[in-house]
Amino acid sequence: TLSLSAFAKKKLYVGTNAEFPPFEYLENGKPVGFDIDLVEELGKIMDYDIKIVDMAFDGLLPALQMKKVDLVIAGMTETPERTKTVSFTQPYYTASQVIITRKGENGIKSFDDLKGKKVGVMLGFTGDIVVSKIDGVKVERYNAAYAGIMALKANKIDAVVLDSEPAKNFVLQNEGLEIAQTEGAQEEYAIAVRKNDTQLMEQLDNALTEIKSNGKYQELINKYFK
Ligand code: GLN
Repeated sequence: TLSLSAFAKKKLYVGTNAEFPPFEYLENGKPVGFDIDLVEELGKIMDYDIKIVDMAFDGLLPALQMKKVDLVIAGMTETPERTKTVSFTQPYYTASQVIITRKGENGIKSFDDLKGKKVGVMLGFTGDIVVSKIDGVKVERYNAAYAGIMALKANKIDAVVLDSEPAKNFVLQNEGLEIAQTEGAQEEYAIAVRKNDTQLMEQLDNALTEIKSNGKYQELINKYFK
């Protein structure tokens, strides 16, 4: 008799944090978004079944190290600090940090204007690094972007610093907020794998190159970024 497993595809466990629209967010309790579609497409090319594992952002790289997941895709920026412990594929998206404020309220127009202000960032996000470098900022750390947005709406803080696309998303869904006309340095999102997982790294890099050239990548960009 033929066992079913003869047909079962290999599984790839993918860590994400579905609180970062439009890259990953929950819809009817299920993680969806640009990154989820992207990794599904990569899985098709690499012939893997994709299993999404949703968890807290700061648990993602530890979970990767402990082999609870095989890779991490979470709008995660490649940083020198993270590169000490994991490897990143070629970049798949260029982003930057922006400042969200209450509409027309506190004259915050640039990152320098954040001096002396209470600024919300998400614990361990690149925005935390950017804001923590500015002298005289009172940094308030939250576990998720939504919590920071709620604190801003409730007048508990003066601004939130967050990645550009999620920022646009939250501002569209929350009246009375706006994005300051200034942008931080560019950063690159990439997929993280364990340092010694060179075969998976190569497969992912090849698959990324393929979807960037066959139109699939552009299709996803058009679907999620309006
Ligand atoms: N790009 C930011 C970072 O890497 C935020 C990522 C996220 O919240 N998913 O820290």
